[in-house]
Amino acid sequence: PARLGILGGGQLGRMFTVAAKTMGYQVVVLDPDPLAPAAEFADEHLCAAFTDAEALAKLAQCAAVTTEFENVNADAMRQLAQHTVVSPSGDCVAIAQNRIHEKAWIRKAGLQTAPYQVIESAADISEASAEFLPGILKTATMGYDGKGQIRVKTVAELQAAFAEHNGVACVLEKMVDLRAEISVIVCRLNNEQALCFDPAENQHIDGILAYSIVPARLPQALQQQAQTMAKRLADELDYVGVLAVEMFVTGDDSVLVVNEMAPRPHNSGHHTLNACVTDQFQQQVRLMCGLTPGNTALLSPCTMANILGDVWGDDGSEPNWLNLQQQASSHLHLYGKKSARKGRKMGHFTTLADNADAALQAAQALHGSLKK
Ligand code: ATP
Ligand code: MG
Ligand code: MG
Repeated sequence: PARLGILGGGQLGRMFTVAAKTMGYQVVVLDPDPLAPAAEFADEHLCAAFTDAEALAKLAQCAAVTTEFENVNADAMRQLAQHTVVSPSGDCVAIAQNRIHEKAWIRKAGLQTAPYQVIESAADISEASAEFLPGILKTATMGYDGKGQIRVKTVAELQAAFAEHNGVACVLEKMVDLRAEISVIVCRLNNEQALCFDPAENQHIDGILAYSIVPARLPQALQQQAQTMAKRLADELDYVGVLAVEMFVTGDDSVLVVNEMAPRPHNSGHHTLNACVTDQFQQQVRLMCGLTPGNTALLSPCTMANILGDVWGDDGSEPNWLNLQQQASSHLHLYGKKSARKGRKMGHFTTLADNADAALQAAQALHGSLKK
């Protein structure tokens, strides 16, 4: 069987590996962590740095290579592309790694972002910055789960926040009037061959995704518009693979603005494992192999709930899985992580129901029953 390579072996790499193995491929995982969740299923785990020359040489021998992780070295991906098929491209990953580039591309695609100002040095902050207040100062690179973000109300607070970020390049984003958060996952091979999953409605708790509800409880026309926008962004990037686009529904008139993108399968797409004809990891496998995207149809309304380390006992004891296991319409997915920390993504479950509200209610109740 053909060998596929992946940069990163976290939970996304693990679910990719399971999908690829099931579809008849062998998988090589590069991840410096000896306990990487994907290692359990991989044919070969290269336990080395993402820039390790020997490991990259092995990946270069794979039929195709992808990534599960946007903070991978984009140059390493460009180098690999001289030897094998790499998707998404190092260029696309580099754009998604940096909010300054990302926002420029979103606008280049003709899509709206929240009003923002690039702040690369203290001199960029002036009275004119007040236009973007109250706002959020986000580091241009390396932020996730709301880390690297400081909320500011005044120019003085903005100066203090920039200093707190040690003067690294940032984007100051104006707070928008959030009515809902959604994400659209695009599966794109080329201009003609691109399909979107139905938008997911995302609810966060403490800056971390808690629930994804599908279908989103929003007008059909708005959902279609969101899919058109995500597809346009993928086209502008000439993106190959699975691209997740986060959007805000803002204001009374439900204007859609693009928040950010992830060049990979996304936490808000985990419901596709149980509720769609093709799941987002199968799509990643298909697209890296040059196959057309699979059918993205939703088979049932559902809600995905994240399971964080918070539901483990202080002594490390396991949550109470029994209620969840007894449910006929819920599916538990654990990532095989050895230690549970607060805020760490340990697994998720997806609950199917007759409609989105019922699925969310059932998922909330089940989630509440996990902690002993
Ligand atoms: P992740 O990559 O884990 O999704 P992140 O650290 O990259 O998170 P963002 O997605 O940019 O952060 O923001 C985190 C959350 O903060 C958003 O989901 C949203 O709830 C809120 N938020 C971000 N930007 C704005 C904004 N301009 N106005 C209002 N709320 C915002
Ligand atoms: Mg992000
Ligand atoms: Mg986000």
